[in-house]
Amino acid sequence: MNAQVETVVDLDAIAHNVRILRRHAGDAAVMAVVKADGYNHGAVEVGRAALAAGAAELGVATVGEALALRTAGITAPVLCWLNNSDADFAAAIDAGIELGVSSLQHLRAVEQAARALGRQAIVTLKVDTGLHRNGIAPVEYPQVLTALRTLVADRTVRLRAIFSHLAHADEPGHPFIDVQRDRFLEAIAAAKSHGLEPELVHLANSAATLTRPDLAFDLVRPGIAVYGLSPFSHDFGLRPAMTLQARVALVKPVAAGEGVSYGHAWTAPRDTTVALIPAGYADGVFRPLSGRFEVVLGGARHRSVGRVCMDQFVVDLGDNPSGVAEGDTAVLFGPDGPHPQEWADLLDTIHYEIVCAPRARVRRRHVGGRSIGL
Ligand SMILES: *Cc1c(COP(=O)(O)O)cnc(C)c1O
Repeated sequence: MNAQVETVVDLDAIAHNVRILRRHAGDAAVMAVVKADGYNHGAVEVGRAALAAGAAELGVATVGEALALRTAGITAPVLCWLNNSDADFAAAIDAGIELGVSSLQHLRAVEQAARALGRQAIVTLKVDTGLHRNGIAPVEYPQVLTALRTLVADRTVRLRAIFSHLAHADEPGHPFIDVQRDRFLEAIAAAKSHGLEPELVHLANSAATLTRPDLAFDLVRPGIAVYGLSPFSHDFGLRPAMTLQARVALVKPVAAGEGVSYGHAWTAPRDTTVALIPAGYADGVFRPLSGRFEVVLGGARHRSVGRVCMDQFVVDLGDNPSGVAEGDTAVLFGPDGPHPQEWADLLDTIHYEIVCAPRARVRRRHVGGRSIGL
């Protein structure tokens, strides 16, 4: 295996994190969120590891993502919640996938697919309690409940759950969290007053799972924490699962006064040695990191110098006391290198975006998992 740049995903870390989340969830079940290919960690592998470690269900955004889990042989309950009305609901119903519905139009599309197929659809209502992203708008909610009641009565639909999503969960104590809780409780009560009994209700993402046990309801839906990244500065004992690393392609001297990489944004202040790392912005190394981030290489941290390019960047080794050579592994981020939060701070973003960035050319390799029978 000669990958120049790869992500290594530790499935033992995934299992460890799921166990921590289960502890925080108390009596509630855990749905591990594996949308966006498991936050770019591999939805199938992470899904299997999470289920083996005690997660009860998996959550994704789209029908396509849900079907990919089924194709891989995962039979656990899977919910998907972000689809256009023309999504392939028939395939989803046929595969026993639970469909999150955010409008009357979505519900009608699901109804049509279920009738055409002659199979009951499993529906979960996504209610908008104030995030104002997806979720059923309050003005439309009574119509959806009325329509759903008929569909449940004639067994076209099984109502599995009602859920909502928080806007400020990563700001503990923010008053809007409780506003959303109250609106959520009202939405559940409204469903009941329409004669609808969801089998379960859920509200908490990672941040709420870790800080608001009172909002666990029947199930929690952590995503980022499954991957070992905390939404807070406190890490809760979570272990980051992803390492981004690359093998040094070249080590060479640069004379004092010579510029390095496009535009010569950095000039060697003294005779020095540089290492070329064959990973660039096409691999998830954001160009605005140029000259600002460090890699762990030869047991020490070395700073990037000059611009990050599409395929490569350069680090300054100084007089290279640790004898870095071609083929050595540079850790860009991960448990044995900088934390993705360091990149997030430099880029004014969140670590979610950092781990989602490696793509295309980056080989992904899973390690661990034996302890959970994988
Ligand atoms: C992404 C997502 C989650 C998980 O959020 P994290 O902050 O990663 O824990 C939970 N629920 C919904 C509806 C989501 O879209």
